[in-house]
Amino acid sequence: MSDCIFCKIAAGEIPAEKVYEDDQVVGFRDLNPQAPVHVLLIPRRHITTLNDLTEADEALVGHLFRVAARIAADEGLAERGYRTVMNCNAEGGQTVFHIHLHLLGGRQMTWPPG
Ligand code: AMP
Repeated sequence: MSDCIFCKIAAGEIPAEKVYEDDQVVGFRDLNPQAPVHVLLIPRRHITTLNDLTEADEALVGHLFRVAARIAADEGLAERGYRTVMNCNAEGGQTVFHIHLHLLGGRQMTWPPG
């Protein structure tokens, strides 16, 4: 999508601190980190919200989580623990409308989330 900031990051049109790339997904550090490790995993293909996923996207979503776990391990978080979050629409706290999986770690998480 031409005006989507995460599409532009995926295409390399605007800078981001990328930590992972393959043909399906891109991982990069959040500009406003909420934890010592805060990485966003996005599909290269524009999908607006979690509500827009179809059956055909099931493997892609599984891949997003597997990549998140791999990055968590690379960052030394696998045993300590970490959190993955995908916000959906206004009350879910979504501010960028290209789905992204937050990977947060390096500090104790609390529950319930704010
Ligand atoms: P959400 O509120 O779940 O939609 O999360 C959007 C996230 O994207 C926030 O944590 C922002 O800090 C982050 N963000 C927005 N623009 C950028 C950018 N250009 N590079 C990296 N992270 C960004």
